[in-house]
Amino acid sequence: MHPFNDPRAGNWPAILLMLLVSIGLAAADVQDGAERDAEHPAVTMLRDYLRVDTRNPPGNESAATAFLGAILAAEGIPFETVEPVDGRGNLWATLKGGDAPALLLLHHTDVVPANEAFWDMPAFEGVLRDGYIYGRGALDMKSQGILHLSAFLALHRAGKPLKRDVIFMATADEEAGSKLGMGWLIDHRPELFDKLGMALTEGGHGTVIGDRITLGIEVTQKIPLWLRLEATGPAGHGSTPHVDNAVSTLLAGLNRIQSHQFEPRIIPIVDAYFKRLAADFPGPIGAAFADIATAVKDPDFRHQLHQNFANLSALTHNTCAITRLSGSNKVNVIGPLASAELDCRLLPDQDPVNFLAQLETIIADERFSISPLIAFAPSASSPDTPLFTAIETVMSRHFPGVEAVATISAGFTDSHHLRERGITSYGFAPLMIPLHDLSGYHGNNERISVTNMKRGAALMLEIIEEMVY
Ligand SMILES: [Zn+2]
Repeated sequence: MHPFNDPRAGNWPAILLMLLVSIGLAAADVQDGAERDAEHPAVTMLRDYLRVDTRNPPGNESAATAFLGAILAAEGIPFETVEPVDGRGNLWATLKGGDAPALLLLHHTDVVPANEAFWDMPAFEGVLRDGYIYGRGALDMKSQGILHLSAFLALHRAGKPLKRDVIFMATADEEAGSKLGMGWLIDHRPELFDKLGMALTEGGHGTVIGDRITLGIEVTQKIPLWLRLEATGPAGHGSTPHVDNAVSTLLAGLNRIQSHQFEPRIIPIVDAYFKRLAADFPGPIGAAFADIATAVKDPDFRHQLHQNFANLSALTHNTCAITRLSGSNKVNVIGPLASAELDCRLLPDQDPVNFLAQLETIIADERFSISPLIAFAPSASSPDTPLFTAIETVMSRHFPGVEAVATISAGFTDSHHLRERGITSYGFAPLMIPLHDLSGYHGNNERISVTNMKRGAALMLEIIEEMVY
């Protein structure tokens, strides 16, 4: 019997509620004394940055490069900007150092839109309330941009010789695929990346669960494979339906995809991550996480995992989400074509070509065509580097007993551009985010605590100091 079927084991909602209650207490502790820290430069800079409206679309990231450029200019630090198209600015600045491979501090300046009807405060005013800074970008990822900038300014002011260049880079358009940001810079300004050995960007942080912290350093991502499916059929009048109809054909094929269970497969990094999480979860959930490869063989466990932790479930198998549909553009016309778009995400060791062949077998209908919209090459960074060690060293100095764990992201970031070029790129910010605040990513009431910004700026500087002196 699986532990979830054991009536003594309790149930998921009760355990989740217990976790959330204990997290609430931890978050209240974190707030203590935060108000008096509200004048900290990292806090004031973030509040100002959140007031710069860079929701994408349309982006308008040149407002962000103007904001960041003014701060750099006031410190006497030269910088460059480029606009691939009007208003879509990118910025970078370099502190010159020795010949060791350069360190890149990378963040994107655009944010996703915010539906303020669902917020308790304006999303673009840098609101400070009860020890938290609220606004779109407070987590994703203007906070990290300000941690990078704070550390960059501190290194400049210290004026000590650096053993490697440190590059501060702020890019556009990440939330829409980076074609006008990192993608453009890699294609048009490849020399910017020549001396690079390592990078820090978004993707990992500390997660506070009850009184425990899980410290994730993101080293790889699922591979996005965005697909367009088209089905064809005879066209005609809606009043006289044929046996064949492109929309019906499309729906039947999509149903086959929707009901297909992609086989669970636990790759080593996912296994290690669940083992680390196991310590944070009481009872049967922890026991299942400790041996996730066995647990996912149980359909009931897979269902519970998907229901309660969709983000963790996504790490255990390939996924396909049906996200767009279109048929005839007139109600009384049976169109010759119907189409859908799918957001598929593959485990990072998968071959996208093989996956496409598998999908064709699932659809099993020659009236379909499938064409990729986005497909990345698999890529990962080794956790066996001095930068990983530097993060571990600094974080364990301040949070004794907390171990860093290499993680995989179900989403994608600009790291893939760097990893594909052999540059070590880690998703990591030294921020301690309560589990329930993670819903702010692309969600409502996105926030970061004042304590986090103040402490995070100091920790980010310490991590970088380990690498440059
Ligand atoms: Zn982001």
